[in-house]
Amino acid sequence: MEYKVKFKPVLQSFFKQHKVEYFHQFENQYFFSCFLCGERAKVDFDNTLWQCMTCEIKGNLIDLIKLVKDEPAPNRVKIYNPARERKRIKKKFGYLKTLEMDESIIKYVQKLEQEVNILLTYLIKEEKQNIADKRPEIF
Ligand SMILES: [Zn+2]
Repeated sequence: MEYKVKFKPVLQSFFKQHKVEYFHQFENQYFFSCFLCGERAKVDFDNTLWQCMTCEIKGNLIDLIKLVKDEPAPNRVKIYNPARERKRIKKKFGYLKTLEMDESIIKYVQKLEQEVNILLTYLIKEEKQNIADKRPEIF
């Protein structure tokens, strides 16, 4: 019988222990900030293979463990998490709507919120397609 190691909980626990922020991107792929350059790196939670999309350093869980020791959490760059930012933007629009404003400004803000949402939906779809198209060889 073939035994398949479940790496997902191992990686989750590793990221949590070392205060590495990450977020889900596509299928089994997640993003975190590269320990060397701070840009986006992607990691496959099925096999722990990862690669920075900027400096192109790559490896597996063992290499991550070696690297994280050299770069303590406070020095690391926080990853830009689009889902979290979208929530923040939504909250800000919500706040704007609670303010007393002229009817014309309220309508303008509502229209702006709609346009932002349309743009975000478009960009997220594009991004997912790009990620799917640009799978590195290691995956
Ligand atoms: Zn990098």
